Amino acid sequence: MSTTTEDPPAALAKAGALARLLAPIRTHLVVCAILSTLSAAAGIVPYIAVAEIARVMLGGPAGAAAAIWTWVGIGAAGAALWLLLLVQSSRVGHYADAAILHDLRTRIVRHLGALPLGWFRASGSGRVKRAMTGDLEEMHEVIAHALGQLTGAVTVTVVGAGYLFFVDVPMALIALAVLGLMALFYRISMRSMTTHMNRLIAADARISAASVEYADGIQVVKTFGTGGRVLRRFDDAVDEHTQAFAAWVAEVRYSSATSRLFGSEMAVLAVVTAAGLAFLGRGSLSVADLVAFLVVAIGLPNSILPAVTAAQGVRKGRMGAANIERLLARPPLPEPARPQKPQGHGVEFDRVTFSYDGVTNAVENVSAVCPPGQVTAIVGPSGAGKTTLASLLPRFYDVTDGAIRIGGADVRSIPSAELLASMSLVFQDVALLRDSVAENIRIGRPGASDAEVRQAAAAAHIHEVVERLPDGYDTLLDAGGGSLSGGERQRLTIARAILSGAPIVVLDEATAALDPDSEAAVQDALATLAVGKTVIVIAHRLHTIASADQILVLDRGRVAERGNHDDLLTIGGLYARMWAAQEGALA
Ligand code: ADP
Repeated sequence: MSTTTEDPPAALAKAGALARLLAPIRTHLVVCAILSTLSAAAGIVPYIAVAEIARVMLGGPAGAAAAIWTWVGIGAAGAALWLLLLVQSSRVGHYADAAILHDLRTRIVRHLGALPLGWFRASGSGRVKRAMTGDLEEMHEVIAHALGQLTGAVTVTVVGAGYLFFVDVPMALIALAVLGLMALFYRISMRSMTTHMNRLIAADARISAASVEYADGIQVVKTFGTGGRVLRRFDDAVDEHTQAFAAWVAEVRYSSATSRLFGSEMAVLAVVTAAGLAFLGRGSLSVADLVAFLVVAIGLPNSILPAVTAAQGVRKGRMGAANIERLLARPPLPEPARPQKPQGHGVEFDRVTFSYDGVTNAVENVSAVCPPGQVTAIVGPSGAGKTTLASLLPRFYDVTDGAIRIGGADVRSIPSAELLASMSLVFQDVALLRDSVAENIRIGRPGASDAEVRQAAAAAHIHEVVERLPDGYDTLLDAGGGSLSGGERQRLTIARAILSGAPIVVLDEATAALDPDSEAAVQDALATLAVGKTVIVIAHRLHTIASADQILVLDRGRVAERGNHDDLLTIGGLYARMWAAQEGALA
């Protein structure tokens, strides 16, 4: 799996992804930051105005009213400016956000279209969904919210501290020392927190990927009982999350509680009041200055707090950006420099070797010729490489060694759209779309008339079933196929393949036994589909392919035996043993 899936923690190491992805809106972000800086600076003016009003009041009646009203005016103007600039900053931020997310979504979708299909199989829809929702959402948080909060908090601190120094240097130093202490404790708690947070975020990502995978595949999971692996992945992720959380709580509860205590308004109030009263007693501080400190200094911790959340948002955003960048960096399926046209539609596997991980070969040195008009069955024990071999033909993956040719042309030299158009893939995990029955069949050949759709359905022995549905061909299916049985769903995909008329058919026989009626109908449908075509079928139940023209018996990636049913029974090897076992099970 190492070549096809991503390890979330590895994404953490990738720095700079956020900056690179946001480069197109850098100007907007700078403008947004400037506006939010100005807004924050204006926002602190009313507090200063209150402090100054107190100073004027305490200073005596001479000209007091005029000065007070001037400060009221300044305070009100500051508040108005704060709001105005905040709205503008948010507007610019959200505009840039919408533009870049639209841009990124488009890039991701285009890129997904060019990725080898095998990647989707291996990574599952969880990875795709995470990129399109979670990762982008985290970037949105940074652009639209965190950036403004961070610049705002920095500005408030700088402007507030500047004012305090202007009022009284020794007192300002004391107030800042309290805030500094808070920052120090916070840093200490954050040092271990970063590791824990990263672990938590990674575990979170794994949980959501596993849940999506499970939910998407629930139908397969329930019918074929293959949920164990997916569920185990989910359980592991949840366990990891719990452990990470416990470790995080154990380590940070004291440091974070202390930093909260030191950083709270009460701590600042206590220290500022104590120091202020002492200075007042010595005559080095006026009452008016003390009031100024009480008003402004107490507000500081509260304006710094959002920065903490924002910093976490930025951390998540960086991880989201790294994930997106990794997805975009995934190499697309290479398109041929000099495209070739297949002469006919016979398929040839020429010493084909393929490895998922570069270590063990899932398919090794397999050669076979599959002529047009014949059925080639691939059989073998589970894990023998049947599905892998079949998925190399539509280039879900490219061969590691050897070549696959269609009509003499290497599949890698056929443009991918043409390659896929030349074959019908009837895989058991082929999902139905959330659309009407008719449209689900029409995917085989967009633009086909209603009559053609019905003909294909009839040929696939599904027409009567569809007619009996509440809205006939207009019945909406959900992604799982809704009220259709397994055999009916399969015949629907066969109708799709019949309509497409593609000369090569690759099909993965259902692993689960269908009821006898369905089984017979599916067999008839397949027989109709196969006429005159190159058919490659991955067979799990041997009696369905006993009449195949050619049977390849795979074992651990290699061709162990080949021939027709009678030949293989005569050899008395693996096939004969599998046949005996299955017949025994049926009897
Ligand atoms: P079969 O279809 O005969 O059951 P497969 O082609 O599915 O066999 O699997 C062949 C081998 O390749 C097995 O060892 C399997 O574990 C491995 N394999 C299958 N799919 C993947 C994948 N996406 N990534 C890594 N290994 C895989």
